[in-house]
Amino acid sequence: MTATTMRGKPLADRIRADVAEQVRAIGHVGLITVLVGDDPASEVYIRLKHKAANEAGFDAVDVRLPAATSEESLLARLAELNVSDEVDAILVQLPLPDHIDEEHVIRAIEPAKDVDGLHPLNAGELYLGRPAIVSATPRGVMALLAEHEVPLEGARAVMIGRSAIVGKPMAHLLLQANATVTVCHSRTRELADHTRSADVLVVAVGSPALVDADMVRAGAVVVDVGMNRTEAGLVGDVDPAAFEVASAMTPVPGGVGPLTIACLLENAVRCARYRRGDLAYPG
Ligand code: NAD
Repeated sequence: MTATTMRGKPLADRIRADVAEQVRAIGHVGLITVLVGDDPASEVYIRLKHKAANEAGFDAVDVRLPAATSEESLLARLAELNVSDEVDAILVQLPLPDHIDEEHVIRAIEPAKDVDGLHPLNAGELYLGRPAIVSATPRGVMALLAEHEVPLEGARAVMIGRSAIVGKPMAHLLLQANATVTVCHSRTRELADHTRSADVLVVAVGSPALVDADMVRAGAVVVDVGMNRTEAGLVGDVDPAAFEVASAMTPVPGGVGPLTIACLLENAVRCARYRRGDLAYPG
């Protein structure tokens, strides 16, 4: 049996078309990205986000600050953006240079403009089962699972990775969908014992072929969030041999990646609607 390939692009294209329509209806949606320093991977992500934002009709501003920018001046810049009427959504690209405390920066973003959903208020609302702004990647994964009608209620879902931007929000969304959720991480013992029990396995680690075909239960649905640049090109965290075991699986590239960008734009529109009182924040 070969798994169904769950491609992200068709769904991402539909989400982006819907976002573009909403942006037209609103008139102006201001998205600001802030990149501190010149990390090459971050540059690529910022470029992709702006390309998509411009195509969808956003007024997107790409703020670039030198690597030596002090935490104080970054916080001062955010304070201006927080109160600016031109700005609906703020994204600070992570990671930040070592001398800047990410926690301070995340807390300094106006929660209703926090397009990545990282502010403690947004994270807390999700924890309590009242999602407001939720990180784009897990939202994209949920949209893809819904698109493929993957049953989640009562399903055994295993999430590998516990980051604030992917693993933790993903686990909460799965829990909210009434899955029985196990979260695995770098200190988990006997990882394969957990993965082999999964009806739905989501992997977000950043380690090529961490999950091999033997670790996947026959007929499981596998979502590979990992993106690893190797000599062989961009690869995920799951060995593609798992396509022969799973019932459905995302490819890398072309799986979750396109959905992350589409859902990020969707979040930015949500921020704009909060600011216009069209939606109550937190909802
Ligand atoms: P992170 O480094 O913040 O978190 C990695 C997690 O993996 C940690 O929680 C850690 O405990 C866990 N881990 C590390 N080694 C492990 C092991 N041997 N066994 C089990 N768990 C282990 O990374 P992140 O920001 O969550 O990103 C994870 C991956 O997803 C990266 O490859 C990143 O590039 C990718 N990513 C892709 C998209 C996308 O749109 N496709 C979006 C965000 C992140």
